Amino acid sequence: MYMPKNLKIKGMKNMEYILYLFIFAIGITFGSFYTLAIYRIPKTEDILHTHSYCPNCEHKLGFWDLIPLFSYAFLGGKCRYCGEKIRPRYFVIEFLSGAFFVLLAYLLNIKTYDLTIYKIIDFAFIVLYFTFVVLMAGIDKEYRKIQRGVTLYGIIIGIIYMIYLYIIDHTSIYRYGIYLICYTIFIILSNITLKKYAKNKYIYGILITITTMAIFTGIRVTALTVITISLSILIYLLIKKVQNRKNPKRNDFYKSICVGYILGISNIAFMIYVLFQNQYLL
Ligand SMILES: [Zn+2]
Repeated sequence: MYMPKNLKIKGMKNMEYILYLFIFAIGITFGSFYTLAIYRIPKTEDILHTHSYCPNCEHKLGFWDLIPLFSYAFLGGKCRYCGEKIRPRYFVIEFLSGAFFVLLAYLLNIKTYDLTIYKIIDFAFIVLYFTFVVLMAGIDKEYRKIQRGVTLYGIIIGIIYMIYLYIIDHTSIYRYGIYLICYTIFIILSNITLKKYAKNKYIYGILITITTMAIFTGIRVTALTVITISLSILIYLLIKKVQNRKNPKRNDFYKSICVGYILGISNIAFMIYVLFQNQYLL
């Protein structure tokens, strides 16, 4: 069949736009789920079945109130039923998730005419990992805690990812062994100290998070993330200490830093940066 060359290319370009629009729609839907999960998981509410409701007037939300991005925009950032302002956080998380999904598809070179199963699996794993980071960071920012259920989810997807990587590439078995040992040690330690020293729970949550980061984004990106964060926190603490010399009682600034939140943001940023350089993560 004859097909003019430029027409063919034009048709393909349109297909790419449709694909990316579709991926954006999936991204903002995930984003909508994240906002709900960050709000509900720490309250141990059902994240899958219970109806969505307004946190202020508790009115059940209908279909038209739940469309990611658009509902917020059309309702002018207010609840339809009580007029209470909806926090822009919802809109921001939804939009950033959509943008991340599109960027990831672009970086993994996902195209309609060159769609391999490996690319789709890679995309799916990074989405699962992104979900972990957003929930961990979001809950940390809101409540300053590393949620157990979320770290458990991270461990499970981490192990599944290692099994997958082992199946397609047998060489890195020792590295996976080290990750499994890290997980085991941190889980045991977090359970031993749970009752007596509540503040250690946070540290072990962070360590489990860093292990999951290493599995998904590789040693290099994780090391960059951890070094950057450690230095920033150190500088912040030093400045605070100098500023507050007069009342030494209030020296517990560490408790005001959401380590998981800044860790999550910088890890995703470094991951995008490395992918942009056309380099492999692992
Ligand atoms: Zn309301």
